[in-house]
Amino acid sequence: MSVLDIRVLGDPILRQETKVVETVTEEHRRLIDDMFETMHAAKGIGLAAPQIGRTERIAVVDVQGGSQPIALVNPEVVQSSSDTDKSEEGCLSIPDVYGDVERPSRVTVRALDRDGRPFEMEADALLARCFQHEIDHLDGKLFIDYLSILKRRSALNKWAKARERYPDNIRRLTLEEVSEHHRDEEL
Ligand code: ZN
Repeated sequence: MSVLDIRVLGDPILRQETKVVETVTEEHRRLIDDMFETMHAAKGIGLAAPQIGRTERIAVVDVQGGSQPIALVNPEVVQSSSDTDKSEEGCLSIPDVYGDVERPSRVTVRALDRDGRPFEMEADALLARCFQHEIDHLDGKLFIDYLSILKRRSALNKWAKARERYPDNIRRLTLEEVSEHHRDEEL
């Protein structure tokens, strides 16, 4: 498995529509494994294909620090609650920028798993939020799109300074981050 470079805000791929996966192949499984590895190394709880420069409708989610990894191929929200929650979100592609986003509190997601088998999962709380955030990525949508004009402006101002650290819109995890992750995994 390998840790991949993460694309940050400014890379046009983050705004592109993704393509439905017709058949889940061995190559997709390798991609999914690399996405989990990258997400864990970056200490994220979700990662979508465009964030690592790919255009497949694939995302990975793990809100419990490695104990509940969920691969999502062609995911869609088939049901969402009318009641909503507002909570702070961040994104591996917009490091150091956070904002409150209101979303349905519960969703049912339909997808294929790593082996191409269809499944449905009901989620609430953080997992529901994470599913929605990642599926948005597959539609070229980012959490900052939900912020009010003023809050988005202040987020983008913050980002304008932060992005200098990511030449060519690429966030390459440092050796320390990657090896620290490997140490964690060994424990
Ligand atoms: Zn994100």
